[in-house]
Amino acid sequence: MVHDKCFQGDRDLQFTKHLEEQLAARRRSGLYRHRRQLDSAQSTEVICDGKPYVNFSSNDYLGLANHPDVVAAFQAAVDRYGVGSGAAHLICGHMRVHHQLEEELAELVGRQRALLFSTGYMANLGVIAGLLDRHDEVLQDKLNHASLLDAGQLSRARLSRYQHADPVALDARLQASTARFRLVTTDAVFSMDGDLAPLPELAQVAEKHDAIMMIDDAHGFGVLGENGAGSVEEFGLNETQVPILMATLGKAMGTFGAFVAGSETLIESLIQQARSYVYTTAMPPAIAAATLTSIRLLDGEAWRREKLRKLVDGFRRGAQDRGLTLMPSGTPIQPLLVGDARQALALAAALGQRGFLLQAIRPPTVPQGSARLRITLSAVHTEKQIDGLLDALAQLIPETQTTQC
Ligand SMILES: *Cc1c(COP(=O)(O)O)cnc(C)c1O
Repeated sequence: MVHDKCFQGDRDLQFTKHLEEQLAARRRSGLYRHRRQLDSAQSTEVICDGKPYVNFSSNDYLGLANHPDVVAAFQAAVDRYGVGSGAAHLICGHMRVHHQLEEELAELVGRQRALLFSTGYMANLGVIAGLLDRHDEVLQDKLNHASLLDAGQLSRARLSRYQHADPVALDARLQASTARFRLVTTDAVFSMDGDLAPLPELAQVAEKHDAIMMIDDAHGFGVLGENGAGSVEEFGLNETQVPILMATLGKAMGTFGAFVAGSETLIESLIQQARSYVYTTAMPPAIAAATLTSIRLLDGEAWRREKLRKLVDGFRRGAQDRGLTLMPSGTPIQPLLVGDARQALALAAALGQRGFLLQAIRPPTVPQGSARLRITLSAVHTEKQIDGLLDALAQLIPETQTTQC
């Protein structure tokens, strides 16, 4: 027994040593990640690690995360339903307010039905791992979100990653595929680049090869389209062209969770087969109630979407005037490519000293050598705040570049 314990101790020590080596390697290459502590509501002005900042790093694109109506809806729902849902949707955690939200989401995106998931990550796992197996193939844009890539792996379907936003590359991949079912999946708005996938062209290629098209609209939903219904509305893509639509509620909607929308058959299949749906607790009902209010605000406060578009245009013009090179993006995600991870960190830190909160995005989230500052805009930013950031960037960028060269 004593001997066993010693052996156990050695193994723990070895494992700990292995982890410590990995951590040290991350530190050396500027890839170590830290968490900051926010001490205020999510907004464009936050208190972070005890200091005030103008925030350019949240995904709260419309400023709904702390909107008084959304907060009031949440509070009223807590009074009525309590906090926890208490069970999975298939046990007794599926409340009327969840169901109502599903119906309104389906209507908004023009699909037969919608199904709520607790997170976007789980929604992607649910669809891909729940509906495909090793006889199938998943075709993914090279820059797809980690949750789509992980979902593909979990499904055991064959994985094919095509060149970023390239329908011709997709066409060749599909031409070569002999799998039973082929699922083409792409971020609609790329989360770290901000550019839009050429959705109509991709859908056309998918259709030509009888492949199934799935869109992850985490960053388009609420922001794009006439009514904020997202990328499918922006491009006018119906359920036949894009049979599987996934979007999240924790970004522009300012709440939490995600949904998948599509046909009756798709949704019923997910309810039966998606393990990340079946084996997890339903989202708190107050979150669903708050999200219903966010949906109403898409219509009732459409100015938020319009203002956001104007701010994005103004930001890009301002950057150009100051000689800053942005990546090609027309969405609220406006990355500034830096390249080296340590340099990106230094730039984020220098901006922090000037009172701006931004994240340096580094590998493996983005490809090696493409570290960047991910600047996100919100409808509740002011032009003054944006000009302030641009001025700081214009001052810092020549500086950091010369010190690094
Ligand atoms: C944020 C995000 C997700 C994950 O959504 P969560 O609700 O945060 O789990 C999935 N896909 C994309 C493209 C995202 O940006």
